Amino acid sequence: MKEKDTFHFSKTPYAELHLHFGGSISPRMIWHKVTVDDKSDELKKEFKDFYSFQNFFDQKRNNLDDYLKMHKLVEPLQKLDRLEYFIQRLMRGAYEFENLSYIEIRHCPYGRTNKLKEEKERIAEMRVIVLKMDEYIKKYTGGGKNQYPIIIRQILCMHSQPTYSPNVNSAILDLAIEMNKLNIVHGLDIAGGEKNYSDRYDEILNNFKRAKEEKLRTTAHIFETEDTPDRMLELIQYLDRIGHGIQIPLKYPSYLPFLKQNNICLEVCPTTYFKCGTFEDYNDENFKKIFSACEKENVDIVIGTDNSGMHNVRLQTEFENLLLHEVIKYEQLNRFRQNAFEHAFGLTPVEKQIFKDDVNLTIDNGKYVLEIKI
Ligand SMILES: [Zn+2]
Repeated sequence: MKEKDTFHFSKTPYAELHLHFGGSISPRMIWHKVTVDDKSDELKKEFKDFYSFQNFFDQKRNNLDDYLKMHKLVEPLQKLDRLEYFIQRLMRGAYEFENLSYIEIRHCPYGRTNKLKEEKERIAEMRVIVLKMDEYIKKYTGGGKNQYPIIIRQILCMHSQPTYSPNVNSAILDLAIEMNKLNIVHGLDIAGGEKNYSDRYDEILNNFKRAKEEKLRTTAHIFETEDTPDRMLELIQYLDRIGHGIQIPLKYPSYLPFLKQNNICLEVCPTTYFKCGTFEDYNDENFKKIFSACEKENVDIVIGTDNSGMHNVRLQTEFENLLLHEVIKYEQLNRFRQNAFEHAFGLTPVEKQIFKDDVNLTIDNGKYVLEIKI
């Protein structure tokens, strides 16, 4: 060993920017919590045993709407009295098995409220859901016993399904604005299937316009499939990031320079596309083209799992598979990893820098010096 040498010391930090709360823990844990801990028959009405439940998540889906049935099933299970369990398990897994330092979890609070109540009461309950989640996140964040050194931020999702009236979506936006001022929510999103966007175009556009006026950070599930209407391109000007957006480099490459100029990145979640049938596999030329087209125009990409628990795929596996299938080069892997910190909604500029830089351990004349470059 040389007398003075620098070694990579810490594990490289990772950030997950596109994770749905509903898809964040494994079906096995959900089954256990509901049927064993809570002794509830909510799932047993539909699934005769755990294996049929697991099979529901493992099956290949025909399209995005078919895929979203998984969320439809899980969301009502994540009700108020189970939030603590889901948050704790999410954080434990992310720390123990995924080496995540920063996570943005997105969720539609309305989907977790009591379905038996009237819309007005459910809207009021959304506030309680967001505050309780914040309470549990804080409880399990840190370096103490049963705590995890991970920064977790909430993003609230509006929804495009008809059960989410314009009233509900507008209340989600109001709640996001209010909670953003309290540092409890850090962004706004829309999810729920792109086929419905056409009918709700004005509503969606106006809500995002208002979000930007209120200084809220924004992302949106758009151009994941070919179902997003062309005119949704108008929405891009109100976004900081795009949830998926993979059809933009494929169908509308002329928009890439606009993304670059405005520092808008694409949140690419490979496993979802194979699961939904958008692309056959990693060798699909169109899948590879997303990366080459963005690279050519210097548009940032961040990699996400979308639903690590549902997919049984950790973030590092997503990166590793891209590398193994020669979709990206190793240099890109590191850049995409750093992009996630750069485009995070809930980190200060100094925090971003700490996470992006490597932590080095220097051995100087037998003394160990830990270096953090800021
Ligand atoms: Zn998503």
